[in-house]
Formats: sequence, C-alpha cells, structure tokens
Amino acid sequence: MSCSPEQTATRDPGGAEEISDSEFLDIELENLYPETPESCDRLSPALGNDCGTESETAGGPLAPKTDSAEEAGTPPELAGVSAGAGEGSAVLLRRKRVLAELSPLERFRLRYLCVTDVCGQAWCELQVVYGFELPHVPKREEESPKVKAGASIHLARELEVHDVVSVSTQSREDRWALKILNMLSMLPILQAGGRVRELPVFGMLEGVFLVGVIDELHYSHKGELVLSELKTRGLRYLSGRAQERSHHFQVRLYKLLFDSMVRGLLERDAFVQSLNLRPEQPLGPGVMEHAQKLGLHVHTFGGVLELALMTLSYSELPAIDVLKIEYCHQGTSDAIGTREVSFDEAGVRAELRNHLSYWIGQREPRGVDIEEAWKCRSCSFEEHCEWRRERAENATASNQTKRFK
Ligand code: SF4
Repeated sequence: MSCSPEQTATRDPGGAEEISDSEFLDIELENLYPETPESCDRLSPALGNDCGTESETAGGPLAPKTDSAEEAGTPPELAGVSAGAGEGSAVLLRRKRVLAELSPLERFRLRYLCVTDVCGQAWCELQVVYGFELPHVPKREEESPKVKAGASIHLARELEVHDVVSVSTQSREDRWALKILNMLSMLPILQAGGRVRELPVFGMLEGVFLVGVIDELHYSHKGELVLSELKTRGLRYLSGRAQERSHHFQVRLYKLLFDSMVRGLLERDAFVQSLNLRPEQPLGPGVMEHAQKLGLHVHTFGGVLELALMTLSYSELPAIDVLKIEYCHQGTSDAIGTREVSFDEAGVRAELRNHLSYWIGQREPRGVDIEEAWKCRSCSFEEHCEWRRERAENATASNQTKRFK
C-alpha cells in the first residue's frame, strides 16, 4: 500500500508543524471528542418544556432508539481543549487555530442537523451551541416530570395508530434503513386517506441535510392534507410569542421537507454523501426480517434507499395543505387549543439560511436579546454562558456610569 507524505509524517510535541492540518485533525478530533448520542435523540433545548423528541423509534410498525453516536454529534468540549501532559504550546496553539478554522458543522462532526436543532436557534442559538459544546452539563428540562409527561402523551398518541416494535440494528446503514422503512410503511396508509404519526422526513435544504419527524398527518373533511404537531404544556394556556416562533418554524420546515420528498426531489447522492453511508452495506438480520414483514425484499441499505426514492417519485401524495399546532395539558392530556400556521416558502427559506449561516461558519452564534433575558433563567447553561455574563457586566457598567453622572 502506498502512503502519501501526510500519512507517513510523524508527530511529536515539539514538531507540531510537521503534520498536515488534515492529519492533525484526524488524530486530534478522533481522540479528543467523546462520542455522544445522536443529536436527534436529544431533546431540543429550544423547545423548552413542551419539546418533542425526534426519535427513530417511531414510525409504522417499528424501530429502535438508535445509538448512532458515530454518525452525528461528536461535540468537542472547546472549553476543555488543552494540551496533554508533555505537549508543547505550539501544539496547543495549532489545535486552537485548526479548530477555529472549522465550521461548526465540521467542528461538531455533524453530517446533518435535526429540525429541532435549527428551530432551537429561534429560541436561543447559543443554547443549541452549548448543547453540543458542553454535553456534560445536565439539561434541566430532560429529567423534568413535565417533559416525561409530554413524552408519555406523544407515545400514547403514536400507539393509537400503530404498534412500536424493537428492531436490532448492527450498523449506521441499518439505522438509516430503519428510518426509511418507517417512512415507507406509512406512505400506503397516507395514500389510502389514513392517518399516520411519527413520520420521518429528510432532505437537503439550503445546502444542509435536515432530518425530522412529523407528529401527525391526516386529511381534513375537505380532503386537505393536514400536518398536526402536538405540543404539551404544563400551563393551561397557549404558548407565548417566543415559543410560538420556534414552533411555527418547526412545522414550516417539516412541510418543506415533506413536500420536497413527495415531489421526488430527495436525491440518492445527497442522502448517501451527506450522511456518509455505504449503499452496498448488507442489512443486518433484524432489519432484513423487519423489511420482509413489511413485504419488502431488500438486502442492502442502497436497496432500501432506491425503493424509497422510487416509491416517492411514483406516489401521488399531495403537498401539505394545512399546518396546525395542537396544545394539550401535560397533567391531564386535555386540549388547550390549536393554532393554524401560515406558510410562505421564500420567508421560511430566508429564515433557514440565516440559521444555517452559523452552522456553515459564516458568523458567530448569538445569545438572546436583552428583552428576552428571562429565557436565561430556565437555561441549563446559565452558569457557563459568556453572552449572558457580558450582557450582565455591560448592564452593571452602564448603571455605574449613570450613578456617577
Ligand atoms: S444563558 Fe441565555 S443567552 Fe446564554 S445560552 Fe442560555 S438562554 Fe442563551
């Protein structure tokens, strides 16, 4: 096997510049950043107390929570990046320089973003970023009884329309195949005019691959295809404007993704290359057996993907006509109210581009405006947040200046 000069270079603490940046990153990023659960399995910090989960357990008659740590977030603890014993300052400086040159997508080693992450930016962008940078900080909302109650209500709703079964997976391709099979199993139900819940959606939007799970799709009595997103709340009234912004953006993104899929715009290469999947990878026995139960004869991940793309291109499913958010009480499951959400594709895409400009490295992340500083009181990263500290220091300095005048 021939080696490139980069591959044969050796590394020593005093000679950091002898290694290429690419090799440096291969070594350092792989070793520095602990593997963490896939970002889609996280609760989005932005969705506050009535957050939804984007899990792979959903879907038709199937699927497991995945452990796809290797496929998405490998968030670095930038605050903790320091030279190990014996490493020189040159290595430390170089590490910082190399990390600083990476976009957040590269730095966190994300091949895709979850819809809930992007929507989280509408609540507080920095909170989403800290979620990746400081994975060890306990999330206040994750263990709260309210969130658990919300998750139970979501599961109960899901079980109303289909069973959830566990399927064992052996590879990243297996786990993605399962998401696709989930989606495939629901298309005929939708086509027959039925109701589906926890429908996976994915696709390339504005240059970044996005993944989400639609709570529910059904047809209205007028025959319109309605997307209904369930939000559970501890309080018995509808959410305020700040949460509303992020909820509305969420369902608008789902519509963009779903509509692109049923228009046949999901591209094989974008899927495979963005997610770095091997089409030729044979399906594991669990996934193969599950596919057979669905009446599908597929043997590889590529086979599942091709089948999905073909089914979507030949499906006569309409685009989503109506977007709704249904709020219900966490304690009692009683309905609180429903809001209909408008849709303007150009506006949604512009908002998405603005959010993605952080992820592709075009700008720094932003915290909340001073008028929304109340959000910081319930934020898990309150103690760590530089943005908040700077704002507080500025406010103190400005008060002192006024006093001395
Ligand atoms: S403390 Fe405030 S500004 Fe900082 S991440 Fe949390 S919500 Fe955002």
